[in-house]
Order: sequence, then structure tokens, then C-alpha cells
Amino acid sequence: MSREVEALERAKHFLKTEVAPKAQLIDRDVSELHKIVRRMGELELLALKRAERFGGPEMPEPLFRIYQEEVARTSGSLAFLTTQHQSAVGLISGGENEALKEDYLPKMANGDRLVGIGFSQLRRNGPPIMCAERTEGGYILNGHVPWVTGWSYFPEFLIGASLPEGQSVFAVVPLVATPVDGKKALDENAADEIGKVTVSAPMELAAMGAAMTVTVDFERFLVPDHKVAFIKPTGWIKNSDAINIALQGHFAIGCAMAGIDVVRDNAGKKPFPFLTDALHALEQELADLKSATANAQRSTDDSTTPERLAVRAWAIDFAVRAAHAAITASSGAANSVDHPAQRIYREALVYTVSAQTPAVMEATLTRLIARGGR
Ligand SMILES: Cc1cc2nc3c(=O)[nH]c(=O)nc-3n(C[C@H](O)[C@H](O)[C@H](O)COP(=O)(O)OP(=O)(O)OC[C@H]3O[C@@H](n4cnc5c(N)ncnc54)[C@H](O)[C@@H]3O)c2cc1C
Repeated sequence: MSREVEALERAKHFLKTEVAPKAQLIDRDVSELHKIVRRMGELELLALKRAERFGGPEMPEPLFRIYQEEVARTSGSLAFLTTQHQSAVGLISGGENEALKEDYLPKMANGDRLVGIGFSQLRRNGPPIMCAERTEGGYILNGHVPWVTGWSYFPEFLIGASLPEGQSVFAVVPLVATPVDGKKALDENAADEIGKVTVSAPMELAAMGAAMTVTVDFERFLVPDHKVAFIKPTGWIKNSDAINIALQGHFAIGCAMAGIDVVRDNAGKKPFPFLTDALHALEQELADLKSATANAQRSTDDSTTPERLAVRAWAIDFAVRAAHAAITASSGAANSVDHPAQRIYREALVYTVSAQTPAVMEATLTRLIARGGR
């Protein structure tokens, strides 16, 4: 078995034996989610796409997407939390700062270094809300990051901040508040940063609250050059979003699989043939959606954008319908906070909006409206 296939099997085994039995608990209990993330580190599962030269296992895209579906199928909170770190691995790897790669990447699979991300603000139109300015030896950061998931898990995150000329600088910054106007060392890894970082209280969210999402504000914060991963040209996020339209759908697919699992469970227990019929119909649609997603990913050419948007909207719509089917098949019990069906339904909400762009919003609404009427 190749190293990357072995890593996928190790991840699947971990999800099945250690995460699935605790999925309801992890959803609500931060300390349990912390334990699971530590365990993922022990199993070296936190940097699956990391290049061989930094320790591997360099999981290729199709296997990594299978992993993403399986983790989203098992626990939304774990999937959402750890995908931030896995994305940081990919972004740092793709950067230009070799010293930063040497420093971070070897320690990112076992959790010695955990890094979130915070760059959705680059999607917003109008004057940038998170700005960077060049100074001697680094960049001065001022502004607001509206979403950073992983507070208390990740001591740092990869921020995206807009430069005056329109490019964006990406750098590793603390995900901990500094003392007011502190020139003081935050920790041994951030000894030379100065300025002020303010972190909000964790948001009270309908779903995935245990993943601890916060806002972060920067005031005259100096990030030194050795923490800068790369600079992206103007419009980078729009291009990146356009390339990733269909890729983002794998979380929704995993969520739909979770809903189908609940329907399957009910079909096995209750004496209603229509439950089995519904199960088969959902399974068929899942197979069709997976195949359409794989096809849509073959090209990221502009001409395929409408098809990729339609597939993403299908994945979002299907996640919500499969979760709703799980609720329906589970009857009143679905309302219990201990029941997976309501958790999966709430998780579908997050996958509906994460990495949303106006085009994804439009495609989703177009699909939802088309289903109206009798
Ligand atoms: C629970 C949760 C956790 C998250 N965690 C992270 C994280 O860890 N890291 C991270 O980077 N992101 C995170 N996100 C952000 C997520 O990817 C965003 O939801 C997504 O980028 C959409 O942005 P928004 O929700 O801020 O919406 P908006 O700011 O409304 O933006 C959505 C889109 O609409 C456009 N738009 C909005 N208003 C207008 C207008 N008036 N005119 C023209 N265009 C407009 C924007 O330009 C943007 O393209 C998280 C989101 C959620 C819900």
C-alpha cells in the first residue's frame, strides 16, 4: 500500500473508531474536540497534503477529497476546524518563504505547530477592512478579520491583508490577544512582533460552535518578514474562489453522506418500505453528484464556471435535503440535542455559506427557487 493510501486508511479508521462514537459530544464540548485534535496529531493526520520533503504523506487531490468527505460525514466541527489548519499547510507549502516552510511544515502533521486561516475579508468589496503597509523588516497590520475558526486550538493563523496597491500579503500572526500596546513577547515564536491584537469572545453559533470562531483586530501590529508566507496579486481571491468552486462542495457531500447514514440506520430499524425507497433514491443521487463533481473538477477554465457553480449549488442543496431526510426518518427523536440528525442539519447551514461568493449565493438561490411550487 502506498504511503498516501495508508494515510487515508489510517484517517478513515480513526474517524470510524474514535470520532464517530463521540460526534455528538465533540459538537458541544470544546475539551473533547481538543482531545480529538491532539489524537489526530499523534496519528500524524494534520498535514495530509504536505510534501514528502517536509515529511509527507503528500496525499493527491482525489484522495484528499475522499478524506474531506469522510471527515465531514463523521463530525462537522472536526472537519471545519481541521480544514483551516490543512489549508494553512497547503498555503504555506505553496509560498515563497523557504525558511518559514522549514520552520513550520515539519511540525504541522503532529500538531506541534497549529495554524488557522483568516482571509475571507479579501472577498469583501469596498475599502479593505484588513490592511497591511510595508515597513522596514516587515508589514504593519491594521484592521479587522471577521472570521477566524480555531481559537484556543491554534496559537497562530495565516492572515490575508490588503496592501495599498491592491495585492494581499499573507503572514503567520498570533491568534492570541497581546497586552495593550504591548511590545512584549507573546511567546517564544513571536518574540519580535509588536503592536496590538484583540480577539473577540468565541461566537455563539448555531453549528460548529466547539470549533471556536472569533473575530480578530489588529492595531499597528508589526509582522516581521520571516513570518510572511507570500504576496498575492490583486484579484487573487476571486481567481482562487473561481478555481475552487466545485472543490468546496466536498464538505457538503460529506454532510449529505452523514444524513444518508441516519436514513439508512432508520431504514434498518423501522418496518416502512418507503424508508428503504428513500434511502436508495438518496444513494443514487449521491453517486450522481459525486460523478458530476469529479467531472466538473476536470477543468477550471472560465467556460466551465456555470457547470461548476451548478454542481456546488447541487451539493449544498443535497446536503440540506439529506439532512432533512435524516430528521424526517428519525421522527421526534431528531429534535434531541443528542441526536445526530439535527446536528447534521445545522452543519449543512455552515457548508451553505462557507467560502460563499456572490456567484455561489446566486447559484444556490437559483436552484432553491427552481424547486418551488407543487
Ligand atoms: C462559522 C464560520 C466560520 C468561518 N471561519 C473562517 C475562517 O476560519 N477563516 C476564513 O478565512 N473564513 C472563515 N469563514 C468565512 C467564510 O468563508 C465566509 O462566510 C465567506 O467568505 C462569505 O463571507 P461573509 O460571510 O463574510 O459574507 P459577506 O461579507 O457578505 O461576503 C460574501 C460575498 O458577497 C459580497 N458582498 C457582500 N456584500 C456586498 C455588497 N453590498 N455589494 C457587493 N458585493 C457584496 C462579498 O464581496 C463576498 O464576495 C467562516 C464562516 C463561518 C460562517
